[in-house]
Amino acid sequence: MSKRNFVIAGNWKMNCTPSEAAALSAELVKAIEGKDLTSTFLACPPYISIGSALEAAKGSQFKIGAQNVHQEDSGAYTGEIAANMIKDAGCEFVIIGHSERREYFGETDATVNTKVRKALDAGLTPIVCVGEVLEERKANEHEAVVTRQIKEGLAGFSADEFAKFVVAYEPVWAIGTGETASPEQAEEMHKVIRGVLTEMADEDTAESIAILYGGSMKPGNAEELLKQTNVDGGLIGGASLKTDSFTGILEIAEKLS
Ligand code: PEP
Repeated sequence: MSKRNFVIAGNWKMNCTPSEAAALSAELVKAIEGKDLTSTFLACPPYISIGSALEAAKGSQFKIGAQNVHQEDSGAYTGEIAANMIKDAGCEFVIIGHSERREYFGETDATVNTKVRKALDAGLTPIVCVGEVLEERKANEHEAVVTRQIKEGLAGFSADEFAKFVVAYEPVWAIGTGETASPEQAEEMHKVIRGVLTEMADEDTAESIAILYGGSMKPGNAEELLKQTNVDGGLIGGASLKTDSFTGILEIAEKLS
């Protein structure tokens, strides 16, 4: 089975005003102009900046996603955004269950499950985040925690639906800390995740799913991580906010493709 195409995805978190997102997107579009990318290249700006990023990305290979979605279709949920709104705006992707959503906004595997359903029904590609915190790794619980997050977060989907998922393994201790999982630690966990996906769907489907690594990925460590058999790209926070570092990672992915 051939290795999956890379997905290089930026998570801009609560950074980039609409005009900053337009400027950064325009720079990224310029940097990839004329290249026939093998990798899928995207970023997820804050909701308010999605429109200007989409405008700048129009007609290019740079795609736009959202960072979250609400679990209801519409109604009295002040401040929230539904999946069909994200889709209608022109997004193709949505990050679901990021560790910051789990930590600061009380998201659970159950809410992740409902949000993934809404995203799929709206025609969005969910980038489903899983990962253990430092105490869980120290207690040697990382495999069990991530297995539970996948089993509960993705319960009740068909193999056809699994084929539409992107999964991101993001050890929480490596997010925004400058600490990175070693290539061996990443590969070990990605293999565990692919095994769980195989159990839940089937081998061919699991083999087709892109499993991204997230946690202080940068040009200096991306090559060793992306060389791992089961590492199919990156979900990149800090390094996606600068054109050079974001496209530097993309160039490594393209070189390895
Ligand atoms: C993230 O927020 O998904 C992330 C991986 O952040 P960073 O690259 O900054 O660690």
